[in-house]
Amino acid sequence: MLKYDLHTHTFYSKCSNMKPEILLKTAKKHKLNGIAVTDHGTIKGALNVKRLNKDKNFEVIVGEEVSTQYGDVLAYYLKKQIKTTDFFKLVEEVKKQNGLVIIPHPFRATLLPTYKFKLPLDKVKDKIDAIECFNARMIFSRDNKKADNLANKLNIAKTGGSDAHFKFEIATGYTLFEGDLRKAFKNRKTRVDGTIRYGAFGGLLSFLRKRV
Ligand SMILES: [Zn+2]
Ligand SMILES: [Zn+2]
Repeated sequence: MLKYDLHTHTFYSKCSNMKPEILLKTAKKHKLNGIAVTDHGTIKGALNVKRLNKDKNFEVIVGEEVSTQYGDVLAYYLKKQIKTTDFFKLVEEVKKQNGLVIIPHPFRATLLPTYKFKLPLDKVKDKIDAIECFNARMIFSRDNKKADNLANKLNIAKTGGSDAHFKFEIATGYTLFEGDLRKAFKNRKTRVDGTIRYGAFGGLLSFLRKRV
């Protein structure tokens, strides 16, 4: 069984202070087999972590978190940075790169601006490869549960990730699967788990970091 944290950030995101080498080192310390690095609006952090990784048994997925008109979208296996913030154009661009489209935290509620995805996912079901059903930065675990129920209902693969912006958050959310991640997505054979114990604290630190 392989264990990947499919949602992490580096200091290429304004709301994170994570050094690429710390992200890689800590992920390996937690015995993860891979991570997706998904900085806001850039793949520089991901490329940096990938370059640092010398371990053939550890996979670094080059990803990006893009804030589209409907909410955040994760893209995995990118070769080029996604330039558009239009959801439908993004899907096209990612598919052209043979990447994957994931909707993170579709129901995340916070005291700050809401992060709910504003399109009903059943309408775009054929455009997305997975729904993030475990995000460790949730304040309410019911928001993860809602995503999980929806993935079951729509028969879409599930991802789990920490959404780590700081070292202590790495590996607090993860995805379990066997063999190849793309295949596991296709066959809906991924499982997710983690803890939201540090979620609100991490979110607060990100909020403060963005202000200064
Ligand atoms: Zn962030
Ligand atoms: Zn994120």
